Amino acid sequence: MAADPAAVATPAPGPVPAWHAIAADDALARLGSAPDGLAPDEAASRLRAHGPNALPAARAVPGWRRLLRQFNDPLILFLLAAAVLAAGLGHLVDAAVISAVVLVNAVVGVVQEGRAEQALAALRSMLAPTARVLRGGAREAVAVESLVPGDILLLEAGDRVPADARVLRARGLRVDEAVLTGESVPVDKQADPVDAATDLGGRVSMLYSGTLVAAGQAVALVVATGVATQMGRIGTLLGQVDSLATPLLQQIRRFGRAFTALAIAAAAALFVFAVVARGYAWLDALMVVVALAVGAVPESLPAVITITLAIGVRRMAARNAIVRRLPAVETLGATTVICSDKTGTLTRNEMSARSIATRAGTVDAGGSGYAPSGALLARDGGDVALASAQRVARIGLLCNDARLHEDEDGQWRVDGDPMEGALLALAARAGFDDAALRSAYPRLDEVPFDAAHRYMATLHADTEDGHALLCVKGAPEQVLALCSAQAGATGEPEALDHAPWRAAIDAAGAQGQRVLGFAWRRLPQVPERLAQEDVRDLVFAGIVGFIDPPRDEAVQAVAACRAAGIAVKMITGDHAATAEAIARQLRLADGIRVVTGHALEDVADDALPALAERATVFARTTPEHKLRIVRALQSRGHTVAMTGDGVNDAPSLKQADIGVAMGHKGTEAAKEASEMVLADDNFASIAAAVHEGRAVYDNIRKVVAWTLPTNGGEALAVVLAIAFGWVLPMTPPQILWINMVLTITLGLSLAFEPPEPGVMARPPRRREAPLVSPFMLWRIVLVSLLFSAGAFGVFAWAQARGHDVATARTMVVNMFCVLEIFYLFSVRYLHGTSFSLRGLRGTPAVLWAIAAVVLAQLAFTYLPWMHALFDSRPVPLLEGVVIVATGVALLALLEGEKWLLRRLGVFEELQSVARSQPTPLDPSA
Ligand code: ATP
Repeated sequence: MAADPAAVATPAPGPVPAWHAIAADDALARLGSAPDGLAPDEAASRLRAHGPNALPAARAVPGWRRLLRQFNDPLILFLLAAAVLAAGLGHLVDAAVISAVVLVNAVVGVVQEGRAEQALAALRSMLAPTARVLRGGAREAVAVESLVPGDILLLEAGDRVPADARVLRARGLRVDEAVLTGESVPVDKQADPVDAATDLGGRVSMLYSGTLVAAGQAVALVVATGVATQMGRIGTLLGQVDSLATPLLQQIRRFGRAFTALAIAAAAALFVFAVVARGYAWLDALMVVVALAVGAVPESLPAVITITLAIGVRRMAARNAIVRRLPAVETLGATTVICSDKTGTLTRNEMSARSIATRAGTVDAGGSGYAPSGALLARDGGDVALASAQRVARIGLLCNDARLHEDEDGQWRVDGDPMEGALLALAARAGFDDAALRSAYPRLDEVPFDAAHRYMATLHADTEDGHALLCVKGAPEQVLALCSAQAGATGEPEALDHAPWRAAIDAAGAQGQRVLGFAWRRLPQVPERLAQEDVRDLVFAGIVGFIDPPRDEAVQAVAACRAAGIAVKMITGDHAATAEAIARQLRLADGIRVVTGHALEDVADDALPALAERATVFARTTPEHKLRIVRALQSRGHTVAMTGDGVNDAPSLKQADIGVAMGHKGTEAAKEASEMVLADDNFASIAAAVHEGRAVYDNIRKVVAWTLPTNGGEALAVVLAIAFGWVLPMTPPQILWINMVLTITLGLSLAFEPPEPGVMARPPRRREAPLVSPFMLWRIVLVSLLFSAGAFGVFAWAQARGHDVATARTMVVNMFCVLEIFYLFSVRYLHGTSFSLRGLRGTPAVLWAIAAVVLAQLAFTYLPWMHALFDSRPVPLLEGVVIVATGVALLALLEGEKWLLRRLGVFEELQSVARSQPTPLDPSA
């Protein structure tokens, strides 16, 4: 039915009525709306008039404030003080260099922050919620932002109410209004008006934006949007993606702050020592220790790690895994168990009804997809079986909320549940005309499907004989339990015999078919409403078997997870036999052990962890079982990723280390409770996210493994020189040059490293494993020593060859630059060898960074104005070649050591990130 244009006129402006106190029809009329919604044109024009249904975004921090914020760092303030002092004492070049370095550092900081925030903003827009509305009589999913007053909302359990709305119809509706009223118990809502003086918490005829539908269904009329909503008046912002802070990052920031304090204290001590014991001029000594402190502190580390995380988030999003909480990026890499739903996640959710079994015989359904073409063919039982099958197909059509439609490209698609779509296609194959049958049996009421009771019932008027018809479909054992009779071969009710049905259900399940049971009951009187208690004494009509094949990518992803030491468990609402058959097709484990929800009820909490580890499939489970399973696995030290979609899944999603919600079929409540949302509802995307998560963690370790010894080498060289009273191998501006220009550029390129080959061939990392493994610690010490040795070596060699101090120092700076570049190549592969084509070719980020650094270094060495600024000198060719050769030697040495450790079989142990023992999850392992 199309909207009546006369009824949908824009309402006249006037005082806003107390929506809760007027009748639903009155509210509709006042907003110029109608039960089947606004016409699309009208909605568009109202959107222009009212503006988007959104609260104003928090104002962005202006650029100058961001820049200033960068100076809120003790080290930078220390540097600035030194610059002022140097300028005051007439050392203008030093002052200029320090100031330039500070400025470059601040600008880099602002740019890095900006990039990380952009990555998050992009995620926020990907998670933009939608709302189901009726517009011009058609159901539509629209962006929440485009809702207008007068829109008709269709809400169900798990939805976030997207605007303030007047309830028009409600069924078992309960709404959690804690965000608004602080009341934690969900409130029952209904359509009757309440007294005008009722306060917000008591207005049971109203739904408020930002509250959560805890149970039931509703049709409601939008009365206020955007800032006009109650939430808009309070000005609360909801559902935001977290800011860029993860435990690891906080840990590193804390480490950085402590290290800075220590470095400044050490610098002060060194300053006193240099002046008192070594007789340095105090200003020279000050400049050196300032530069030294700057060189030693890894100030760029938090920024580079933030970028690494942001890049990881972007890569995961490109693989359909949208991270809602940043710590998940780190945790993902440590996942040891993934508990996944079956339908739609491991399987394609492209249902197709294959067979109908009744007392009269079995009938096969032809045709493919959701196209209504094809026919039924009796396997046994002939025409009598066909007639019985038609009765089942008729229930399947009536007890159904889905719709089929044909795309422009001729493809038939489902609006709604794919299984119900398959039943519509089945009814068409059985010869029913959808519209004709629905008008012959108009629906009066329904008990909607709920995963807790596992069936759906609809009440219809029979227009021919004036009776009422109750149609029920659901999990077959559930429906059988509601029956007191069965349809005999001719369709007449007879005594119910459970055994043959059980055998038929098990047989279909064993082939991986999803089985649904169908029943009906004739009621002589038409009841006013259908309550759950009325669904009883049914006549069992038959069962339908559906196929829903596993996703090909899921089969591969499961294999990848198993190779990576991650167990995959299926937790499904489906029948045990079906779940087991699908688990076998997916090769979830070598010996598949199935536990039903019913059996779980009898298992004590202390026995559950062992069982949860051993079992691969949990069938006919409820959300409460999921919560117990997660807890049990976690009690054994597992890092658990768990999928979910319904409002009742929220507790287990929250409990899991990584809650994973489905982007398509997931409710808003499930998404908000999760760390990650799958844009394509696909298991393979979880595996991809784990893969990326491991790579991100590796990259963070690489950034640390590279930054600490490069800083350490530089600092060590200066400290040794002062301690022994040698000529300084670098001047303070040169130290700053190495640190700020070379180190930041090169270090950042590690954030872009792709996953190393074989990231999914090693066992998961231990959650509590330190970031710096014994191997890395050893590397930091060794490389620091090698860097200082290189610096002093080249310095001494230059002097022996008769170069002046300035040239010798320039060679030292070049030596650092070359060693940093070659060490970068070594660090790129923490787990494998860097001596491969792939390793030597590098990534674009590495190559750009090296090109930039080489150009900057050539300028430093050969441009006259750089000579003036940094007191540098041109380096002769032979010296240059020797410096580069030293870099090659460093790489060869470090790779040789990696090779040797691996030959000795202690390499992975020294990495200490892997779990100490293989996860005892797979019974075959
Ligand atoms: P998973 O938990 O892996 O997604 P599932 O879809 O089988 O599997 P539920 O949605 O909890 O899990 O469904 C449980 C059972 O309820 C199904 O196996 C089916 O028998 C029955 N069922 C599902 N959808 C409907 C429906 N729309 N109408 C009637 N019964 C249904």
